[in-house]
Amino acid sequence: MVEDLSRFCCQSERCLDHGKRGAGNLTVCGRYGQHEQHRLLYCRACRYRFSERKGTPLFGSRLPDNQVVSLFRHLAERCGVRTTARLVGVNRNTAARYSRLAGPHARQLHDELAAFS
Ligand SMILES: [Zn+2]
Repeated sequence: MVEDLSRFCCQSERCLDHGKRGAGNLTVCGRYGQHEQHRLLYCRACRYRFSERKGTPLFGSRLPDNQVVSLFRHLAERCGVRTTARLVGVNRNTAARYSRLAGPHARQLHDELAAFS
């Protein structure tokens, strides 16, 4: 099976290929999660292993994935923090935090996160 890794880049700051998407340095070295739905990526350039979710606002998030996707969807539609919090059913501070994370990239983040779930 050919994996599309063009959206990912090495997350090691010491790597020569750090931040370069589609550089051909990444391979899939494993899977994890309840349904093995997340990929573990491996950088051939620096031998660094990391989760495909690392570097996305989803990583380490305590909210369920679908709630985060929903949050970004509302932010992308310029709903505003207060409205978003109410519609998604999260604390206003939580919505504000994700709003800062997303910044002007809410639309792009939503599309990327939706692809994961
Ligand atoms: Zn690397």
